[in-house]
Amino acid sequence: MMKLIAHARRSTQRVLMQQQHHHLDGRFIKNVRLVARRNKISLRSLGMGLQRSVSYKQRVQPIQRSTTKAENKGRDVSTNLRTPPFQSDLNTNDPVISLDSSYNSWVAEHPSALDSFDRMMKTAKGKRIVVFLDYDGTLSPIVDNPDRALMSDEMRAAVREVAKYFPTAIITGRSRDKVTEFVKLSNVYYAGSHGMDIMAPPRPVKSGTAGNDHQTIALDHRKEISTSHEVLFQPAKKFLPAIQEIFTMLEEKTEKIQGVRIEDNSFCVSVHFRQVREEDYGILEEKVKSVVKKYPEFHLTEGKMVLEVRPSIEWNKGHALEYLLDTLGFSNSSDVLPLYIGDDRSDEDAFKVIRSRGQGYPIIVSSIPKDTNALYSLQDPSEVLSFLLRLARWKKASFSSRTLHEYGF
Ligand SMILES: [Mg+2]
Repeated sequence: MMKLIAHARRSTQRVLMQQQHHHLDGRFIKNVRLVARRNKISLRSLGMGLQRSVSYKQRVQPIQRSTTKAENKGRDVSTNLRTPPFQSDLNTNDPVISLDSSYNSWVAEHPSALDSFDRMMKTAKGKRIVVFLDYDGTLSPIVDNPDRALMSDEMRAAVREVAKYFPTAIITGRSRDKVTEFVKLSNVYYAGSHGMDIMAPPRPVKSGTAGNDHQTIALDHRKEISTSHEVLFQPAKKFLPAIQEIFTMLEEKTEKIQGVRIEDNSFCVSVHFRQVREEDYGILEEKVKSVVKKYPEFHLTEGKMVLEVRPSIEWNKGHALEYLLDTLGFSNSSDVLPLYIGDDRSDEDAFKVIRSRGQGYPIIVSSIPKDTNALYSLQDPSEVLSFLLRLARWKKASFSSRTLHEYGF
């Protein structure tokens, strides 16, 4: 019996560590609860205590977000239904095994971008692809120490190659400086602090941008540091002094909790709890809440094993995507295809923007079923690498075939 409990706990904890607070497939949650109930294990001890934080987040966050189920029925689906993670670890008698079928049905709804590549590129012919990439969990593996979330040289080379052929931007919750230091590429644009700190080309001069919602915000709060080719856009600049106060206060309040790491991301502050003991989650959350409560202009969101304190402005990764498309000269273009790859909840805002534009490819990185606005999926950063290499190769090939054609071959 003890062995069964230990096995159930191990299997479930590993899967839950992977899903990191995200909305789960309903059947999977049911299975986790079933395992817990049958074995009289508390959900909290299985890691389900984290679910509490999800509802808390929904209460405190003033900016409305909705995670609608992908409305993508009727699209072509991949025939290669990949196996879920940890399958080899799962006992076939274990109810968690049905993660397999829920993952497969999830992939049927969010086909692999690798398997769908040819079809995606067929649609892309003659259109301008603009590539947007999240950093953590997309280009780099998720690691215990966020300072060590380094991308591989192989991944760097792939991004460099993609950026040779397509305008490419990295949109991350990290500070712009930190992600620039990680990525070390000069041919990509960087948007840090969930898009609140963007280094982009100067906005093209144009008149009358009716329907362009972020234009006003951009002009009102704009801080520009012009270099010859780029402009710095920081819509939350006025919050900087408060953010510094919050950072210091969070450091002081949480210093006694072992394993907490507070990261100054310029326009938001991250509280990483990946290395915090589970029994301390509650007290940590309380401490963070008590700080945020003092600053009504800020709110709390959650990412992967991280709580984030952000200014309550209507600006997220989705707005950053639109801003970058605009500055790249594509705001009213009907033949631009934004392609966005990301793994975190904050990436859903960008997925939504792409879906509302009616064209483009929102791609989620996930090895477990998740409620998402993305249309396609990739399992992990290694599949992201394969996808980026393929994308660059595809463009290179179409370049050379055009050249051959031009020379009459
Ligand atoms: Mg991420």
